[in-house]
Amino acid sequence: MMPTGRLPSLLKQQIPSSSKAVALCHVARLSKARVSGLVVVQLRRASTSNTTEHKHTGPDGDTANVGHILTIGQNSLPGQSRTPYWRTVKIWQDITEEQFMNHRWQTANIVEHRAKLIKFLHSTLPAKIPPAISDDKVQPTWTREEFVNDVEEGMKVAPMNVRLTPHILSVVDWADALNDPIRRQFIPLKSTIVPDHPKLTLDSLHEEEDMPVKNLVHRYPDKVLFLATSVCPVYCRYCTRSYAVGGHTSTIKKNSIKPGRSRWEEMFKYIEQTPVIQDVVLSGGDSYYLQPEQLREIGERLLSIPNVKRLRVATKGLAVSPVRILDRSDGWTNTFLSLSNQGRKLGKQVAIHTHFNHPNEITWITELAAQYLFEQGVIVRNQTVLLRGVNDNAATMSALIRKLAELNITPYYVYQSDMVKGIEDLRTPLYTINELEKQIRGTIAGFMMPSFIVDVPGGGGKRLANSFESYDRESGLSTWKAPGVSGDEIYEYYDPITTTIA
Ligand code: SF4
Repeated sequence: MMPTGRLPSLLKQQIPSSSKAVALCHVARLSKARVSGLVVVQLRRASTSNTTEHKHTGPDGDTANVGHILTIGQNSLPGQSRTPYWRTVKIWQDITEEQFMNHRWQTANIVEHRAKLIKFLHSTLPAKIPPAISDDKVQPTWTREEFVNDVEEGMKVAPMNVRLTPHILSVVDWADALNDPIRRQFIPLKSTIVPDHPKLTLDSLHEEEDMPVKNLVHRYPDKVLFLATSVCPVYCRYCTRSYAVGGHTSTIKKNSIKPGRSRWEEMFKYIEQTPVIQDVVLSGGDSYYLQPEQLREIGERLLSIPNVKRLRVATKGLAVSPVRILDRSDGWTNTFLSLSNQGRKLGKQVAIHTHFNHPNEITWITELAAQYLFEQGVIVRNQTVLLRGVNDNAATMSALIRKLAELNITPYYVYQSDMVKGIEDLRTPLYTINELEKQIRGTIAGFMMPSFIVDVPGGGGKRLANSFESYDRESGLSTWKAPGVSGDEIYEYYDPITTTIA
């Protein structure tokens, strides 16, 4: 049994202000409202079930006729308060719980592209923004205009477009926008972008080289990655697949993936004709952006292939738009549940693989959505990406893992950030991931302890982060082998230049 005195020692380590807030939040089941940088637990109780037809208002005050019945079927969990956390965003301060918990309202109020984002920032940011936390010098306070201009310049060079859901925009602490761990993942600032490592490439994992059929990656003998779309509910700055996902930017012309039956048919045929394949990961882009009928068509066809034994549906949806899981008027979740049940009858596993990076992403709506999936018998696993200034300290990573375990989401992987374009400010050196693994292992039951992984550039696949052949802290070069995939071939990973010792 773990001595109870050890967890607080993890939590005592230096963590960003936003993460400190998380520790408080965590005790309060992450229901929060931020006031002057502090987290205040609100104990507002809401009704437990609603069936309402209503109109809703967009960010510009425009009224959209929803015209459908919304049913929120989940009760509050024991001890849970249903804080309207979205009301910390000025334009949503009058939005009711019923409106916010409507998937169509969520999609109608997504903030994407330059003009919408700039307008959102002007209306949401305070006039003065506290400085970035820096170890070496005192940084100046920013004005709102300086921040917005820096974002505009950042977007001109970023490999990913900006796209954000109301849920994610509502969990950013805009009063501390420079340091906020959620903002850092999605909104670029030109002044923080550093030059790319010279060894870095756009498709660092060489996925396109491992496609026997367009958009089907076959690297490991028994597993394929089925890329069905290149659209996501949010666009992450650090996306591994920035070569294809999220639409063209001013710096990258993307090999977009359009959902299409004839293309899928070629992929199905390859899987059928390659009996060694047992595992299929349905990804993109994000499976949340497949229409329910597309999800059903792909899922049922894959389950009907005798050699396919396991299907993983990859989606960040639970993390960035959990309302959809609870909104029974929307067909995606019902379709997924039907696939999960069909799979179970066939003796085949159908799981959701999701992607939380920070405990602040988890609110009471996330808890309800995770509980609903758990009640329905759905297997949910999480894959976190290790990111500098987001989750690269033991306290934050530990809080995230514990929270996921509490929600019956298996913390499956923590990934070293891939060597992809435009995100050197977010990458961490290899020693950070190994130090985190060392500190966290033993503080939680082994079956809830994630594997800490490097997906080695060049197509070597996923390796345990401490299984390198060599590691030179001065040059930042680590070397790797993947005997099961490619014999004695050597693969190289490089730390970001800013963190090497030389
Ligand atoms: S949700 Fe996944 S596929 Fe989409 S941008 Fe983020 S990391 Fe990339």
